[in-house]
Amino acid sequence: MEIWERSLENSITSPEELSGLFRVAAAPLSGVVRRYPMRITPYYLSLITGPGDAIWRQCVPDPAELEDFTQSPDPLDEERLSPVPGLIHRYPDRVVLVVSSACAVYCRFCMRKRGVGCNGILAASQEEAIGYIASRPEIRDVILSGGDPLLLPDDRLDDLLSALRKIPHVEIVRIGTRVPVTLPERITPRLVRMLKRHHPLFVNTHFNHPSEITAQSAKACARLADVGIPLGNQTVLLKGVNDDPMVMRRLMQLLLTIRVRPYYIHQMDLVRGTAHFRTPVNHGVAVLDALRGHTSGMAIPHYVIDLPGGKGKVEVAPGRVERNGSRLSITNYLGETVEYLDVK
Ligand SMILES: *Cc1c(COP(=O)(O)O)cnc(C)c1O
Ligand code: SF4
Repeated sequence: MEIWERSLENSITSPEELSGLFRVAAAPLSGVVRRYPMRITPYYLSLITGPGDAIWRQCVPDPAELEDFTQSPDPLDEERLSPVPGLIHRYPDRVVLVVSSACAVYCRFCMRKRGVGCNGILAASQEEAIGYIASRPEIRDVILSGGDPLLLPDDRLDDLLSALRKIPHVEIVRIGTRVPVTLPERITPRLVRMLKRHHPLFVNTHFNHPSEITAQSAKACARLADVGIPLGNQTVLLKGVNDDPMVMRRLMQLLLTIRVRPYYIHQMDLVRGTAHFRTPVNHGVAVLDALRGHTSGMAIPHYVIDLPGGKGKVEVAPGRVERNGSRLSITNYLGETVEYLDVK
């Protein structure tokens, strides 16, 4: 067994284990964990300084998860946009391949909360999805997602990347992973040696708070960067975690120090069980305003809203968003206007 596999085994997965470590009652969390699984790796646990801090809020279940009745389990209509199991085809030239339903840490704000940690959204093999991609020459960009693709064993990932690389029209492959943040020991020399054989390969990771940038996560990113993999970061704007403009600015600056280029700040999706993390869109605009001009342009990502109904990501920028009270009208890349209900 590899070191990272042992770390997964030693992760805490029950409220009882948590209450053995912190002054927190297990009972109110049991129902939450039955519905939405919990896992916190020993490394990520070690970053918690106390109940309620930014790391805690991201990984410790909250009874509020069961009190969100208005939002949909799948607001982005991923199930409808899935022509074959495990594949989401929403844009003309790129697809998302859902290759695993497991994650090292189950983030409480996850946009695939309906499926992570369950077997529901995971196809037994990617054969059908690969066939779909091979038969459509317009697909030039394949995004491996999940769950976390880097929880697959090296050889399975190798086979999958090799199969994609055999398809001539697939120009680039991206891997979306939170492993550098939550299980940095997974980024082994053996893994990066394998990944290196599948260029052009990009990795987008998911740091949300400056305290996630540590010697360990920096080393994981360095290993990936050293084999020539460009690293990007997708942050989710989270109430009580990184909605302070100064915190966000520091995060963006620190990412550059570990050779990770900020790519997106995502407005929280309207996913059931995550409403307690949403911030108003105006607040996200204020966070972006505290970046532009105040720090390196390299540190400035795009602030995007993923429109309900699978209409695509839209950058919050003048001309795209019109406000009428808490109702926004947002226009996507096809010129379609979608109503979007903001939080008050
Ligand atoms: C986010 C996303 C993509 C990739 O979007 P980019 O803006 O190219 O990063 C592709 N497909 C789906 C379904 C997505 O959600
Ligand atoms: S790592 Fe990503 S897919 Fe997994 S729980 Fe966190 S946000 Fe969701």
